[in-house]
Amino acid sequence: MIPSVLPTYTRAPLTFVKGEGSWMIEADGRRFLDLGAGIAVNVLGHANPILVEALTAQAGKLWHVSNLYNISEQQALADKLVDNTFADTVFFTNSGTEACELAVKMARKYWYDKGQPEKVEIIGFDGAFHGRSSAGIAAAGGKKLTKGFGPLLPGFKHLTWGDIASVNDAINDETAAVIIEPVQGEGGIRPIADDDLRELAHICKENNVLLILDEVQCGVGRTGKLFAHEWAGITPDIMMVAKGIGGGFPLGAVLASEEAASGMTAGTHGSTYGGNPLACAVGCAVMDTVATPEFIADVNRKAGLFRQKLEGLVASYPDLFEEVRGTGLMLGLKCYAPNTDVVNAAYDAELITVPAADNVVRILPPLNITDDEISEAVSRLDNAAAQVAANKD
Ligand SMILES: *Cc1c(COP(=O)(O)O)cnc(C)c1O
Repeated sequence: MIPSVLPTYTRAPLTFVKGEGSWMIEADGRRFLDLGAGIAVNVLGHANPILVEALTAQAGKLWHVSNLYNISEQQALADKLVDNTFADTVFFTNSGTEACELAVKMARKYWYDKGQPEKVEIIGFDGAFHGRSSAGIAAAGGKKLTKGFGPLLPGFKHLTWGDIASVNDAINDETAAVIIEPVQGEGGIRPIADDDLRELAHICKENNVLLILDEVQCGVGRTGKLFAHEWAGITPDIMMVAKGIGGGFPLGAVLASEEAASGMTAGTHGSTYGGNPLACAVGCAVMDTVATPEFIADVNRKAGLFRQKLEGLVASYPDLFEEVRGTGLMLGLKCYAPNTDVVNAAYDAELITVPAADNVVRILPPLNITDDEISEAVSRLDNAAAQVAANKD
C-alpha cells in the first residue's frame, strides 16, 4: 500500500522534534549536530531568537493580504536586497524552483520586448540543479530529473560543467541566456573558478546574452560573501535566491537589473503567496543579521577553521576521502567510499550531513555554528569515518 506521504523521498529513520541552534533533537532524545541546516536553509540555526521574534511579532499582526496591496515587509526586504546587491528590483517567490520559472520567463520576455522574439534558448550545464518544476528540470536537464515526465519545456541546451570555452560555440541567434550555479550544490559542491565565471560573464556581454545565476544554495552568506559571484567581482543580469534567505521560512526571490527586468510589466507575472508578510518579516531579520561585515567576516574565519580540520580528517583516512571541496561554509568531502556509507555512519555518530552527486558528502552548517561545535562536528565525523573504515576491513 502506498504510504500516506507520497514516497518520492528515501528518508532516514529519524524524526526531529525540536531544534536549538546547531542542534536537532530526535524523538528518542538523542542530540544531533546539524551540518545540513535543512540543505543550506537554516543559516542562523534552529529556533534562532531573532527569527522567532520576527515571525511571532508578525504572526500577531498580519499573515496574508495578497499582492493586490502594498506589503510593507516585502518593500523593506526588497530594499535591503537592492541596497546590498547588483539588483535594482526583486520579485518574491516561495521556493527556488519558482525563482527559476521567473528567471526563464524574464529572460525570454526581455528579448521579446526588444523585438528579438527568436531569442528563447537558455544554456545550462550538466550536473546542475534548478528545482523540480517543468522549467527547473528542463534547465538542469539531467536524466534523473527529467526521465518519464514527457516532453520537456523546449529551448534549453546543456554544456559540460566548467567548459566555459564551449559557451562561445553554443551561443547562436536564438540564445537568450546562460544559467549557472556559481557553486553547484546537488551536483557535488563544484565551484566554478573565479576566472571562468569572469570569462563567462564577458562572453555573455559580448554576445548579447543574459547571465542568470542560481544562488539558491550558495547565496546568503554561505560562501563567505553575501552572494557567491562577488568572489569573481562580476554582476549577473538575473539571480535566483531561496533557501537561506528565509532562514527556514519558505521564501525565494528573483533579483534583477532594471534592464533585464524591463519586460516584466504589470500583469506579466504573479504569485498568491510570494512576498507574504510572514515570509518577508523573517527575510528582513535574516538580512539584518547576515548582511553585515562582522557576520560575513566570521563566516570566513570559521570556514578556514572548518576546512583545516577537514583537511586533517582527509589526511587521516586517505582510503575513504579524496579531498575537501567548496568555499566558505559550503563544503564537500569527495569520497572514495560510498558517500551514503559516510552519511549513515555519521547518523550513528549523531551528526547530520547531506549526500550529493559525484560521491560527495555535503557540509552546510548553520552560518552561526560555533568554534566548539566545529571541533565537535569533526570529531564525530572522525568517529563516522572510523566506523566506515572498520566495516570495509
Ligand atoms: C534547492 C535548489 C533549487 C530549488 O529550490 P526549491 O526551493 O527546492 O524549489 C534550485 N536551485 C538550486 C541551486 C538549489 O540548490
